[in-house]
Order: sequence, then structure tokens, then C-alpha cells
Amino acid sequence: MIMPPSRQLPPGSMRSTHSLDDRYPRRQRGTPPTADTLGTGVTAWTGRAGLSARNTAPARDVAVAPDAGPATAGPSVGVLALQGDVAEHVVALSAVGARPVPVRRPAELAAVDGLIIPGGESTAIWKLAVIFDLAEPLRERIGAGMPVFGSCAGMIMLASKLTDRASHQETLGAIDMTVRRNAFGRQSESFESDVVLRGVAGPAFRAVFIRAPWVEQIGPGVEILATEPRTGRIVAVRQGSALATAFHPELTQDVRVHKIFTDIVRERP
Ligand code: GLN
Repeated sequence: MIMPPSRQLPPGSMRSTHSLDDRYPRRQRGTPPTADTLGTGVTAWTGRAGLSARNTAPARDVAVAPDAGPATAGPSVGVLALQGDVAEHVVALSAVGARPVPVRRPAELAAVDGLIIPGGESTAIWKLAVIFDLAEPLRERIGAGMPVFGSCAGMIMLASKLTDRASHQETLGAIDMTVRRNAFGRQSESFESDVVLRGVAGPAFRAVFIRAPWVEQIGPGVEILATEPRTGRIVAVRQGSALATAFHPELTQDVRVHKIFTDIVRERP
């Protein structure tokens, strides 16, 4: 992904443990999509070239909030750094004025004001959370109200119930919702779509769906923030200070979702 200088990784920051190269076979990459091949504003996924080209225009308009302030002044927001899009979330958090902190140990988790669980593979993230003694501390902090945001695999991790959980896979229950994994299809059926986010000013969000889940059921306390236009499925939700998207805001240059989450962290007493 081509990033403007403000979104490049700071020197010495960690690299993603799950690179885009792993997730999108090279043969899928091509020139930016020119046709709406799936209908209703949905364009078939063409890989990184398409992603950066599609997201350049809106990102310039909305990228960094002018009131974000210096990075050191912001709240400390952890990124669960076991597997997945860790580096991408770190970059996006810096862009909205938060202080990103990779979290791999219980002591690191204890020190952050909020936490992002990245996109990746929820079964792997869960296994590693158990191995790293983070599963129970995660449940405790989330139960005590720590703001948490999960994208894609992170949404799966935050669910109270899965329709199709893998054996030994558990979830954190931060949001009263039933989530279906891989609901939009296989890796090769990944796509981008223009998603309108409730309460968010500006253009629709160019959302990237990669083996994405959808939310099949929600409890009474859960607010629907977005549905995917082609299917009408729920793809973004909030319950109190817990936020989840089925798509990957960290893979675009549009940082509005990270801004919403950082504001939730800031507002929490
Ligand atoms: N389908 C994956 C899972 O079950 C999530 C994919 C993603 O995060 N892009 O965890």
C-alpha cells in the first residue's frame, strides 16, 4: 500500500506479523478496478493496487483530524500484537493522535487505556492469546469496561456467540452479537464496498472485506453503525465502549473509524 509520509511506520516500529502478501495471492493483484463488477457500488477485490488507488481520494479529505494534536498527548491505545494487521493499526492510531502500544503481555494490557484487536485470523489470535496468558486478562479488562475495537477477526473475537466456531475457539463476549465467520465467502471473494457509517460525516467509507464475517443477530443494547449495501448485512456495531467492523479500516488511508475509537477512549473517565 502506498502511504503518504504522515502514515508511514515510525523508525523501529514493529512490522505486521501477517503481511498483505500472505493474504492476497499475487495473482489476484492487478490494476485498480474500473468496473463495478458485483453491482450496487461493489467492486471485486483486485489487491493492493486497487486498494490504494481507490482510497487515495477520500483519505485526503478526511485523513488526519486537525484537532488530533501531537501523538504524545493522546490516550495510549493498545493493539493486540499476536497476529494480523498490527502495524497498520499502529499507523492509523498515530495519525489520529493516539499513542499506539503493541500488546503481547498481561502487563502491557494492564497499562493501556483502550485496545484494538486487529484483522487476521481469529482462530490463531485466540490460540496465541491463550499461550500468551492474555485470554483471561482480556476478559477481565473488557468486562471492566475498557474500550475495545475489533476489525474483522477482531470483530469475531469480540462476539458473544459464533455460528461456526472452530473447535477450541472461544470469544471475548464484549458485544452481545452472533457473528458468522467467513460469511461473505472465501479469500478469492474478497471485495471493496462503499459503506455509510452512521453518525460519521463525509463520504461513504470505502470498506475492504477479506474473508469477512457479518453480524447475524444483535442484542438489545447493540447499535448498528453500518450495513453492507449489496447484501444488507450488518457490518459495523457498537455497544457502549466496544466497537466492531467486519471490514478493515486499517487497510485504507481513511482513519475515521480510528478517530471514533480514539474519541471513545478519550471520553472514558
Ligand atoms: N475469516 C477470518 C477469521 O475467521 C477473518 C478474516 C480477516 O480478519 N480478514 O478470523
